[in-house]
Amino acid sequence: MKIRILIQEIKLDKTTDDLTKNIFSFIKTTKEKFDRNNKNKSSNSFSVIIYEPIFFEVKITVKRNPNLENSKLYFKDLEKGFSISAASIPSEDDFVLEIELDPIKEPGSYFALAGWIKDHLRHEMEHITQSQFFGINSFKIANGYKYLISSSELSAMVKGMYAKAKHEKKYLDDVFNEYLDYVEKKGDLKNKNERKIVFDKWIEFTKRNLPNAKLRQ
Ligand SMILES: [Zn+2]
Repeated sequence: MKIRILIQEIKLDKTTDDLTKNIFSFIKTTKEKFDRNNKNKSSNSFSVIIYEPIFFEVKITVKRNPNLENSKLYFKDLEKGFSISAASIPSEDDFVLEIELDPIKEPGSYFALAGWIKDHLRHEMEHITQSQFFGINSFKIANGYKYLISSSELSAMVKGMYAKAKHEKKYLDDVFNEYLDYVEKKGDLKNKNERKIVFDKWIEFTKRNLPNAKLRQ
């Protein structure tokens, strides 16, 4: 059982890393177009094979935005110079990734941005493997903190953040806390008790399913 999980993890990690590299070649191309012609918005699609015959399509839009504080995208890192949002369209197996970059802060922003991209991609792959293998096609959407630990989100959230933790060489529980800080700031967690419930559930899932994850506690 553990070996099967480990092999799947290695495969999906590799797919995540390869796709992230391709996305960055695209980001670099769009930067050249921005510098040359002031073209500030570009889109592209990538077809990703998780394992034959399961695949999904990533539609990516990259925009240069020197006023990132006005960005409407969900995750914003003004200091590093990017914002990012992800949405999936389960009926079409499509995944939409939107990125805005402050052109002044490139390429210094790329390492941190890559962590978020890996998190979102791995998260999405988890949903797709869930829907293909376990028949979870229509996700019941819970509200507030319950969403973060719902049966459809739990493994996707944790595995996404695990990909980010590996990229940043951080402890997974530190990445959980950074994420929870952000969600709390956004007002999606109401109090410390809700935060603790989510955190504990993520840790429990990690200990049960990700034997190689590095935890502080
Ligand atoms: Zn999700």
